[in-house]
Amino acid sequence: MTISPKPYTAKFIRREQLTEDVYSHNFEKPVGFEFAPGQYNRWRIEMENPDERGTSRPFTVAVSPLNNYLVITTKKGITSFKRKLFELKEGEQINFFGPLGTFVLDEQDLRPKVFLAGGIGITPYYSMLTYAFEKKLTNIIILLASFSTKEEIIYHKELLEVSKILPNIKVIYTLTKEDVPGFESGRINEEMIKKYSDVSSSVFYIVGPPGMVSNIEGIVTAIGVSEERIKIENFTGY
Ligand SMILES: Cc1cc2nc3c(=O)[nH]c(=O)nc-3n(C[C@H](O)[C@H](O)[C@H](O)COP(=O)(O)OP(=O)(O)OC[C@H]3O[C@@H](n4cnc5c(N)ncnc54)[C@H](O)[C@@H]3O)c2cc1C
Repeated sequence: MTISPKPYTAKFIRREQLTEDVYSHNFEKPVGFEFAPGQYNRWRIEMENPDERGTSRPFTVAVSPLNNYLVITTKKGITSFKRKLFELKEGEQINFFGPLGTFVLDEQDLRPKVFLAGGIGITPYYSMLTYAFEKKLTNIIILLASFSTKEEIIYHKELLEVSKILPNIKVIYTLTKEDVPGFESGRINEEMIKKYSDVSSSVFYIVGPPGMVSNIEGIVTAIGVSEERIKIENFTGY
């Protein structure tokens, strides 16, 4: 089902701290707004004297569509947009245009899915996996998420809970800057992908900053995954 994007207004509810500098910002879900798990909106905040990066940003809706609120999860930053976002108070309004994007969970496609993420790029998978959990989907999904350190990981507890209840979902986090029991160590690489996934039949989803995305796309292509089995979302702006 394709949902036509439209302009909406949403009220800010509250902010929740996930790590030292990553926060979730919750908004009321406007009446009539629907989206598919993994989609994003272009969010706009009215402000005087915005910097050259402007008043709007694309952000994934980092929550299952079955919830009655919307979430932006992002790091503190240095732009006027980020400053305004982190200053929003309860009841203040944000505008957005959406839903946008085709990087979505295709539950009709019964091939196993491998979700590869770098850092904050985990947001679309959080939407997809919590949706899969709520709908008790039986699709085989392997999440392989990379963060620098244990301090920086997000959604780990929540997604491990999902994987405990749904045996078709497996959640692996790797840390690139430290060795910690219970985590893989190092960047997502060929060995790790082969260890956890069926390379010959799976559909590979890749999301994160563009440098990381092109690096992982190179790895999966080199191990024989055809273009038709690769889905990409570039978090431009980082
Ligand atoms: C489809 C799509 C979906 C997206 N979804 C998300 C999402 O769910 N969550 C998300 O966070 N982003 C998401 N992004 C990226 C998002 O739109 C912004 O581009 C990104 O958050 C950067 O925000 P900003 O431009 O306000 O820059 P800032 O965050 O203010 O940073 C600007 C630049 O400065 C650097 N920087 C940041 N802080 C510092 C500092 N203290 N000192 C020095 N340099 C610094 C950053 O690396 C960046 O290069 C998405 C992008 C796309 C295209």
